[in-house]
Amino acid sequence: MKAAVYLGKESIEIKEVEKPEVKRGEVLVKVHSCAICGTDVRTYFHGHHAINPPHILGHEVAGEIAEIGEDVEGYKSGERVHMVTEVGCGKCKFCMEGRQNLCPDLRAMAYYYPGGFAEYILIPREGVIQGNLLPIPYGLSFDETTLAEPLSCCINAQEYLNITSGETVVVVGAGPIGCMHTELARLSGAAKIILADISEERLELGKKFGANVFVNSTKEDLIERVKDETENAGADVIIVACPAPQAQEQALQMIATRGRISFFGGLPGGKTIVIESNIIHYKEISIFGAFASSVRQYKQALELLAGKKINGDDLITHRFPLEKIKQALEVARSGKGLKVIINP
Ligand SMILES: [Zn+2]
Ligand SMILES: [Zn+2]
Repeated sequence: MKAAVYLGKESIEIKEVEKPEVKRGEVLVKVHSCAICGTDVRTYFHGHHAINPPHILGHEVAGEIAEIGEDVEGYKSGERVHMVTEVGCGKCKFCMEGRQNLCPDLRAMAYYYPGGFAEYILIPREGVIQGNLLPIPYGLSFDETTLAEPLSCCINAQEYLNITSGETVVVVGAGPIGCMHTELARLSGAAKIILADISEERLELGKKFGANVFVNSTKEDLIERVKDETENAGADVIIVACPAPQAQEQALQMIATRGRISFFGGLPGGKTIVIESNIIHYKEISIFGAFASSVRQYKQALELLAGKKINGDDLITHRFPLEKIKQALEVARSGKGLKVIINP
């Protein structure tokens, strides 16, 4: 089969590799669509501590079942499926709670196992048992289905935030993740959503997702603007959806009393930040992390996309065949689009 094999920083090649042999308990999926994630871009350009090349990247996968191994029940050949990335141990307290994303022995697809920038992807036995293949709801395209992975991560983050009707939400970062957060916040009834970015192009693309206020933070002081927009109260919820330490630090400066902050995603190189903890103390602020997502949240994401509650169409701006993956990664990095999809 054809696969895009990551060989190290800025090196990826289309190669003919062996099509995985399907053993007992495993399922082979023919990949129709695999979207590029920020992590793929970072890995390609900067490397990744948990990925040893040669390796096949790509974890936002939608396709159809091509082959089913012995002893697998509940799936049929040709069935349209979305892949859950997180494969847990199945035994620890987090796996028991359905939070595979927090399993200390997490073996993720496209990290531990080969990923979906290839014609086929093999779902390991552990994944099949844990329900890592979800049926794609009727009417949802393969391309749109890939959005369920990042969307499920946003759902995970927002479950901690409990956004309620009438609240003001600030989303820092107007990339695909920021746009999805904006849409979810709107669904939760946020009255005012302030979307901020340092790129004018990104802000322009972000206009289709229901924010009310757009701030280019290179041209305008975001903290001041948030104060103006909230009669000095600050925002009830702030979601930092960009890998900038300053953005995390700024969040404390514009949060309302009893506000909730999400640090969505990590900082490059495990950077540290300085925060005035007295703000957390006096204003009873909560700061939440969010990492990946669980099977339940993937299901929720698929339903939201199928029900057109999330504007999937506008989130996808580019499509490329597997052969053009280098170009696709460049586009994804440039910030000139939102989601970039590979169709192997
Ligand atoms: Zn992803
Ligand atoms: Zn576990």
